[in-house]
Amino acid sequence: MSKFFSDKYAYLTPYTPGEQPKVMNVTKLNTNECPFPPSDKAKAYAAAHTRELNLYPELQCIDLRTKIAALHGIDADEVILGNGSDELLYFAFMAFCDDAKPAAFADITYGFYPVFAEVNRVPYVEIPLRPDFSLAPEDYYALGKTIFIANPNAPTGMALSRAEVESIVRANPDSVVVIDEAYVDFGGESCIPLIKQYDNLLIVQTFSKSRSMAGARLGFAAGSAALIQDLNTMKFSFNPYNINSMTMAMGLGVLEDEETTRANCRTIMENRAYTVEKLEALGFTVLPSKTNFIFARTDKLGGKALYLALKERGVLIRHFDKPALSAFNRITIGTRAQMDVLLDNIRDILEG
Ligand code: PMP
Repeated sequence: MSKFFSDKYAYLTPYTPGEQPKVMNVTKLNTNECPFPPSDKAKAYAAAHTRELNLYPELQCIDLRTKIAALHGIDADEVILGNGSDELLYFAFMAFCDDAKPAAFADITYGFYPVFAEVNRVPYVEIPLRPDFSLAPEDYYALGKTIFIANPNAPTGMALSRAEVESIVRANPDSVVVIDEAYVDFGGESCIPLIKQYDNLLIVQTFSKSRSMAGARLGFAAGSAALIQDLNTMKFSFNPYNINSMTMAMGLGVLEDEETTRANCRTIMENRAYTVEKLEALGFTVLPSKTNFIFARTDKLGGKALYLALKERGVLIRHFDKPALSAFNRITIGTRAQMDVLLDNIRDILEG
């Protein structure tokens, strides 16, 4: 910390992202990226827009918002774009939480939520999951707090049904309920269809996972026009040009190639089933995943020991030091070849 760093942030512990190694000869299964490159159309659209980079990007992002809205049967003024969904989650903590309206989220969930609360000086409560890592909807009824739920959850991979989410939204008519659907395309049920019915529901999605655009940074939120307007107040008070022209064009391209996205998601789900079957045969316990990752443990070796042994062999997975999670590892589902490298190395480690 420099001597100039403001006291008002001296207390902050920033979020720790997964490792992003420079060397490419690792099997990278640690940050839930898509193993497939962006579609050809997406790349071509982005490339075509390099011509216009002398100009600022279009502020309202109207074409892409209209396209996203059409895909989900909602209106363009019910959509806002973010520089990754992280930015929109940050805006939601800014816009909808304060001392009178603290935040509430699960004690085991996306590690950025407490950081967003801390940086905004928002009080928060962490609600324990059940012992089997499932989330009990009734724990969230009539809370009087702004609720953040990753659905499917991370790092567990487990999902609530739309009806369960709706029960939480209905039981909190005076609070915003934010549903973070970063991983919904791998078997979850989106709650976007509910936004017309509930003015307190905000859905956040990302192009980083199912749409292979983690490096381009694009997310969107869907909610009532009034909620979206509040988020726009944050955007226009912070960084009006939050989506660059290439990313915007790429987003349009990828949405014109939905078959590729669907096919990629199907492949990931098949590779997930394959990996779970092989790991269970090796004695692992794997939580039921609706995401592009699995959360797995074995009694034969501690979570950290397995993570370190794999890392030494060039296979990166994600380990969390938190006591409730430390027996587990989170493993991103990649190509079949990547999963075979993982499985071969795990067999070697367990036999050695
Ligand atoms: N929500 C969850 C639950 C996540 O795991 C992630 C990815 N780390 C994000 C949101 C943010 O994704 P992005 O900013 O790339 O859209």
